[in-house]
Amino acid sequence: MQRERPQVDLLLRFILQKQWKQRSRRTPSLHHNCLRVSSAWVARQGPSTELHRNFSSNSPTGSPTLSLPDHPSIPSPTTLVERGEGLPRSRGQRYKRTRGSQGSRGPVPGLAFARQGLRWRLLNEGLSSHLSGMQQRRIVMLAFRRWAEVTPLIFQEDTTSPATELDIKLAFGTGRHLGCPWLFDGPGGELAHAAHPGEIHLDDDEPYSVPPSEHGVNLLQVLLHEIGHVLGLPHLSSPDSVMHPQYPSSGSTMELSQHDRTAIQELYGQCEGTFDTVFDWITISQQGGPAAHFNTYFLKGNQYWLYDNSRGRPRPRDPRRVEQGWGGLPSGGVDAHLHVWTPDTNRIYFFKGIQYWLYDRIAHQTITQDPEGHTYPRRISEGFPGITGPLDTAVFSHQHGLIFFFKGHQVWGFNMSSRQVQKGFPKHLLDMFPPSQTRDHPTAHLDAAYYSYFHRTLFLIKGLFFWEVSSGGAGKSPSHNTVLPRRRVAEQWKDLCNVQ
Ligand SMILES: [Zn+2]
Ligand SMILES: [Zn+2]
Repeated sequence: MQRERPQVDLLLRFILQKQWKQRSRRTPSLHHNCLRVSSAWVARQGPSTELHRNFSSNSPTGSPTLSLPDHPSIPSPTTLVERGEGLPRSRGQRYKRTRGSQGSRGPVPGLAFARQGLRWRLLNEGLSSHLSGMQQRRIVMLAFRRWAEVTPLIFQEDTTSPATELDIKLAFGTGRHLGCPWLFDGPGGELAHAAHPGEIHLDDDEPYSVPPSEHGVNLLQVLLHEIGHVLGLPHLSSPDSVMHPQYPSSGSTMELSQHDRTAIQELYGQCEGTFDTVFDWITISQQGGPAAHFNTYFLKGNQYWLYDNSRGRPRPRDPRRVEQGWGGLPSGGVDAHLHVWTPDTNRIYFFKGIQYWLYDRIAHQTITQDPEGHTYPRRISEGFPGITGPLDTAVFSHQHGLIFFFKGHQVWGFNMSSRQVQKGFPKHLLDMFPPSQTRDHPTAHLDAAYYSYFHRTLFLIKGLFFWEVSSGGAGKSPSHNTVLPRRRVAEQWKDLCNVQ
């Protein structure tokens, strides 16, 4: 499946083009970042370790360094040091680039790429001698994916084009390496460096390891940091940022933090896309007394995202494959989800084409037979007389006590008690949910009608936009069922990035 091309608004496109022109005039490879050992980590090891502190001042900037004995089981802590930029030096073993309330300098717009599609290669002449080629490529892919999960960027491995046509090149090396002006310094000290445009070098004298190993130097963490640099990010002072200048920092830096997300989105914008269906999933936790949690699922084709409403972002590492989380659903996507939740009924259905599936929320698996003896998948017209597929979407409305089935420009209200279409239906979508402003209405062919328990409101979703349906009572403004002005889905539900 092709990744849908994310949209960037015209203003952002203009800014990026301008930056690209500026970047084209700049002499490449002047911006340079590297990773170095920190004394804080050494101090934590205590006297029983064989580490020795060995400050020296022979680095190109005269910055202090620490060296470690060559011992592969020792996690090599480092400090990330910016070089060659005349930056102020902090006390201790690192340079700090502090500015602003967050202590960060913010993104470096002139160093951003002008394109969304970026091609990379782990150079054959620069493979690590410590890990298999497969391991190295897998971790590099994973690191690029982390950044793709929060931006419209598309990273593609390119093993065939001439190296000069690649956007990002990665290589391991030792000492004097790959014609690079900066020498690596053996075990400890500098771990890696990045230069613009798109060069990442890793010191192969370091005991790099790949998750889940907790020994050695975490290659994923180092790659996340260096890729951040080649994408245009400076160091960020937040301890949970992968761009924090300290390795290992006090926070967990295997995932991108909110600071990382905000910084990279200042350069590349936010993701936007369309969805097949959207629905809430209710879980009851017993910790500190029963409490209901409403997370939201977004499904599209064979992918899905779990959106954490309280944190305002999807679960880390989403999207995932539908077959990994939803047992028995038809492949290629569904038309609609329906959760009928009344004092008498608690059933979840999925619809596709002219059929529908009954879903077991505990086993997380479709059910082939219900207690009444009906087998599934079942024809929609058999289970819901008067309704025929394929549907655009469906939603159960507690407020109306009806299931709403949507198809084209029409909506059907279905009464679960009488098991028939409610009198007066079908209605025109515009009549059932009238616009509050002329011509600001989805009109027909919804992608999703979604009742959010978190927002306590019904949303109609179509394309890149959503409309909130007012639940205001009689005499209130806006009145009941009125469709409020449209907004962009990406404004309300952030970072739903389509990553393959
Ligand atoms: Zn750095
Ligand atoms: Zn180098």
